[in-house]
Amino acid sequence: MKRTIERLKKLLNLLVEDNFKYFDRVKDPDKTLAILFKELLPHLDKKRKLWVNKVLNLLRNYGSFSEEEKKRFIKELHSVVTLKFSEEEIEKARQREIPKERVLSPPEKLEKKKSYPIKAFFQPIESVKSLNKRRINRLKKLGIETVIDAIYYLPYRYEDRTTVTPMAYLRPDGQFLVKGKVVKVSLFETSKKKKKILKVLLYDRTGTVTLVFLQEKVFGYYRTLFTKAKELKKEVLAYGLVKRESGGYSMVHPEVEILDPYKGKLEKLGIILPIYHSAEGIKQATVRKDIQEVVKRVIPFLPEYLPEEIIKRLNLPGAPEAFWRVHFPYDEEAEELLSFKTPAQKRVIFDELFLFQLALAIHRQKIKEEKGISFPVSEELIEEFKKSLPFKLTGAQERVLKEIAEDMKREEPMNRLVQGDVGSGKTVVAAAAAFFAAKTGYQTAVMAPTEILANQHFKKFNEFLKPLGVRVGLLTGSMTKREKETMYRAIKEGYIQVVIGTHALIQEGVEFKNLGLAIIDEQHRFGVKQRVELKKKGRMPDVLVMTATPIPRTLAMTAYGDLDVSVIDELPAGRKPVKTEIIFEDEREKLLDLLKKELEKGNKVYIVYPLIEESEKLELKAATEMFHYWEEKLKPYAVGLLHGRMKQEEKDRVMESFRKGDFQVLVSTTVIEVGVDVPDATVMVIEHAERFGLAQLHQLRGRVGREDKESFCYLVTSRNVGEDATKRLKVLESTNDGFKIAEADLQFRGPGEIFGTRQSGLGDFKIADLRRDFEILKLAREEAQKLVEKNPELKGLDNLKELMKFRFGEKFDLVEVG
Ligand code: ADP
Ligand code: MG
Repeated sequence: MKRTIERLKKLLNLLVEDNFKYFDRVKDPDKTLAILFKELLPHLDKKRKLWVNKVLNLLRNYGSFSEEEKKRFIKELHSVVTLKFSEEEIEKARQREIPKERVLSPPEKLEKKKSYPIKAFFQPIESVKSLNKRRINRLKKLGIETVIDAIYYLPYRYEDRTTVTPMAYLRPDGQFLVKGKVVKVSLFETSKKKKKILKVLLYDRTGTVTLVFLQEKVFGYYRTLFTKAKELKKEVLAYGLVKRESGGYSMVHPEVEILDPYKGKLEKLGIILPIYHSAEGIKQATVRKDIQEVVKRVIPFLPEYLPEEIIKRLNLPGAPEAFWRVHFPYDEEAEELLSFKTPAQKRVIFDELFLFQLALAIHRQKIKEEKGISFPVSEELIEEFKKSLPFKLTGAQERVLKEIAEDMKREEPMNRLVQGDVGSGKTVVAAAAAFFAAKTGYQTAVMAPTEILANQHFKKFNEFLKPLGVRVGLLTGSMTKREKETMYRAIKEGYIQVVIGTHALIQEGVEFKNLGLAIIDEQHRFGVKQRVELKKKGRMPDVLVMTATPIPRTLAMTAYGDLDVSVIDELPAGRKPVKTEIIFEDEREKLLDLLKKELEKGNKVYIVYPLIEESEKLELKAATEMFHYWEEKLKPYAVGLLHGRMKQEEKDRVMESFRKGDFQVLVSTTVIEVGVDVPDATVMVIEHAERFGLAQLHQLRGRVGREDKESFCYLVTSRNVGEDATKRLKVLESTNDGFKIAEADLQFRGPGEIFGTRQSGLGDFKIADLRRDFEILKLAREEAQKLVEKNPELKGLDNLKELMKFRFGEKFDLVEVG
């Protein structure tokens, strides 16, 4: 080996010497290089092997490289070989490895069988014959009901247990695998509590580490195991979290195996270990065994359901191979596996995103094909609306209004999302659309997520529409039965032209005379399903969705992938950005001064606390305490309280009093209802600001600064919440741009948090992570669109169709597709 390395180095040196002076004189260096590298191959460790194999592949194409490419390539080889290929280094690296023949890896080989139709995999998990009752029950606890659920129950991370770290290179708080021999085994008694501990000291050539066992019931087992290993001088493998202890490193309750050729192969160490989500009371090892047991039986029968064309174009592994490899990873792929970049992982991620995008594309296409209402929206009608307004529309509002008018004129149903920062004036635009509908003789339904918002919209819509002679009504859950019934009748008879409401709108009793337009505010609180339900109250009504949550492009593609998007990206003139400042706990005096100054001017103040969930009693107590604190500190100004345990009516009453000015300070333990409008509130104080997501903070901040007065937002936090938390809050200090904030939030906290709720089912993919997999998402979207354009009925793709319906059908109302 030594000679080969020397020859290799000599050749590479010659090639690059004096800035490639002799480069042209060496004939076919690729041939010689290939021979030398091949000679080395059997002596190398895993990492180098992988690299050399790549090099050998490239060398095969060396002839087709341009002169410049050749030189760049050779230079790269030269630097790697010089740095990483000494006999000593290679030997050291090999020692860190676990002898291949000792390891059960990959655990099982996939033997493909004749595939079943995908529908067979929708059967209950009980249909897998070899599973006993206990196993089935455990699987069900993990949420696995059908066979395919088990296949989709994918590891969410992997642990690399293949590389041995010499003890001298251990670092505290990392997970490491060590290999060494036993120095001593000893039982200690702690001085304080008289608790016993078993300690095992291991050593390798570079250092030592102490294995620590705390549970008495395992002492006997480990004592025998290690004493024997010591007597027979057997090597021990241990994997665990390394901690610094007085005098060295320790691992508490590591996973241990003895390297003994007469024993079976290693199962937990020496391999890449997939880690699955678990449920209460089920051990990780059990989950792994259960899942692997099922998938081992069923994956061999899995059919390929993606179109062959896509598989080829994107160079993806087939479905059975990919799912198999994700559950039973190859350890050669350690690095890629850990970052979810192996071909199998890519396929599985693509799979998930593609199915979702396909469902969206079909949903969208279906809407386009339907005959909706063509509203004759004339220029005169638009002028009539604008003239009645007390202000001039912003450029952005004008543009979006035009987009909506165009949509409404067309026969194909409108399906549009209007995004606009808080206070950008979405309501007026929505009111205009309702006006156009009413003038054509159609009704409009406006659905808001809370009663407060519905009430507020009712007011606003009335303000804009009443002068134009349009009759607006309100329907909410808290109305009395009689009130509701009166409203039902007025809607059914068509007397009410625009009805504003909450979920109450999609309830059974509600019937429209002729619903032509459905407007949904703050859409992310609702699922796509509610959107569909509201639509069903009419015959193909136009749909307009409004949201104040700026959504990064990544998420818009999934969350609103089936909608056209308009953005109101301009605030009405004269609006000043809200001045935002982080206040630390020790600066409360300053905060009080600032608040009093504003109150003296006759302005109002919000003080918001994060939701307290633990218990009703605790929340009430905390809320009351906070309330008294502020009442005391802000005398003589009056303080009101809003908390999560209040009934909706109570909340509404408190909000109304605040608006009217019965008190000037509102302390709230629930997040103030999105979109609430109290124009003369100028200060927003947010306590424990670090506990909120940025998008949420931005929303809260949007409650102030609604008029042209200067307004303020104070983010109260403690100095010891950590650097990251402060960094997040600083984003808000630095910008008022909702989109920038949303992007930052996505980076910091992930998609689930942005939507605030997981029940919407958006962004909660099983394996795809939109932050990591944005590129794959784009591909998936393109491919889905292409496919739907070419083959809208998914002819000849029965498995794909079935699978998509199974996974996303209900959500998108696709049940009757195809
Ligand atoms: P949001 O986009 O948050 O729903 P609203 O539609 O509630 O915003 O508008 C916020 C406030 O700004 C309302 O009081 C509204 O009447 C007012 N407004 C809307 N558009 C304009 C405009 N072009 N010029 C001045 N004020 C406007
Ligand atoms: Mg609004």
